[in-house]
Amino acid sequence: MSETWTQIAYLAAAVLFILGLKQLSSPRTAPRGNAVSALGMAVAVLATLAAEGILGWPIILAGVVIGSGIGALAARRVQMTAMPEMVALLNGFGGAASALVAAAELLRHAAAASGSGEAVAEPLVPGSVVATAIVLGTLIGAVTLTGSLVAYAKLAQRMPGAPLTYPGQQAVNALIGLGIAALCVFVALEPMELPVYWGLMAASLVLGVLLVIPIGGADMPVVISLLNAYSGLAACATGFVLGNSGLVISGSLVGASGIVLTKIMCDAMNRSLANVLFGAFGKAPEVGASAAADQGTVKGYTPEDAAVIFSNASSCIIVPGYGMAVAQAQHAVRDLADLLEAQGLEVRFAIHPVAGRMPGHMNVLLAEANVPYDKLVEMDEINPQFPETDVALVLGANDVVNPSARTEKSSPIYGMPILDVDRAKHVFVIKRSMNPGFAGVQNHLFFNDNTMMIFGDAKKVVLALVEAIKAY
Ligand code: NAP
Repeated sequence: MSETWTQIAYLAAAVLFILGLKQLSSPRTAPRGNAVSALGMAVAVLATLAAEGILGWPIILAGVVIGSGIGALAARRVQMTAMPEMVALLNGFGGAASALVAAAELLRHAAAASGSGEAVAEPLVPGSVVATAIVLGTLIGAVTLTGSLVAYAKLAQRMPGAPLTYPGQQAVNALIGLGIAALCVFVALEPMELPVYWGLMAASLVLGVLLVIPIGGADMPVVISLLNAYSGLAACATGFVLGNSGLVISGSLVGASGIVLTKIMCDAMNRSLANVLFGAFGKAPEVGASAAADQGTVKGYTPEDAAVIFSNASSCIIVPGYGMAVAQAQHAVRDLADLLEAQGLEVRFAIHPVAGRMPGHMNVLLAEANVPYDKLVEMDEINPQFPETDVALVLGANDVVNPSARTEKSSPIYGMPILDVDRAKHVFVIKRSMNPGFAGVQNHLFFNDNTMMIFGDAKKVVLALVEAIKAY
């Protein structure tokens, strides 16, 4: 394939990526967006394979077979609730690939320069774009690899999820950061000094660990989104190393969309990125008002009690949270919504942007259960409607409906926008116990006069509620 056709194919792939990304912004068009982006990736991969490369077909095929096999197996096995861990690992592999390609390219040039390897078409010029890209691909790729592995270990509970902090930590990280910046400049100007290059690689791997250990488990999805952006930027740098415009474009798109998603998530939690990265959020709180105060008593109800309230209601807002994902209650809740509608109630679902454990978690689950998209209402739009609503049904959600976020300055979730379920006339909360949610704080909502707790697994309770409403 000629160079011109390769570049045209990369351009076509870039157009498909951009169209795909645009369609991913709405649940209705997202499946098509995925297919369009996958087609773009297929075009880019085929164009790269058809262009003249330095690897032979047997090695490429071996990589494709082994990589696809492991990927397909992992994707089939992963539980929906473990998706963020899986994404963390995949980001890490992306970073590793970029760092390895950067290192391999440097070694190829070093071997050519010393006369022990094949000659290269264009020798590596100190301080050039390629030398700088090798440095950036190595730095960002290595930080992404180890940072993502720590994120994975925290989410998979293979290491403590709480922030690991020590006195002077930020100063130590800043000093290491400065040292790495100096190494980067040195390697870009003297790329053939291989021991210094390996020093940069090792220091970058350590930096990835140091940057992520002080971040709490609750913030991990934000960090993963940021690491996803890093993996894109590392791939973009590798594109410059290899002179591959397809990689430059796809890496930039991943980098930019990861940064936009990170910003959306921070905004939804009313936190700055600096606070997420350096705030050690989720560290065991000082015994604060919300943890220690006598909060009163909670009222436990049965599905049969709830059926009585539903029989007099004309509107219901269902608020799903992480517990719906754990219980896999989405199909049961769809049946409940259908039943309530058949009985004349207006039913909608309130979607908090960070409900669950990954962006769009609730949308994905409800779409799987074929809940119509127009029934899913975003937080800002549904909040004014709670005061006129007869029943708010909170299904395995906790932090995203915690009113302390509005008022309690000492609470770690203070300032996070929440769904105003406490303003509905009646509130049912379905969860298994009084245990807190991901942020680790108790929820005043459960003690309110208009709140009725129905304890149990979300799916079992919803199924029982359906039976009770039918029988009433
Ligand atoms: P949450 O605050 O973590 O609470 C989930 C609740 O579900 C728990 O209190 C738990 O109580 C209950 N639960 C668990 N398994 C259950 C089951 N089988 N049946 C019934 N209930 C069950 O969840 P959330 O309200 O969805 O809030 C999400 C949290 O994650 C927020 O703090 C958010 O900031 C954080 N976060 C999310 C994202 C994201 O992208 N979505 C990103 C960053 C951070 P029991 O154990 O008593 O049952």
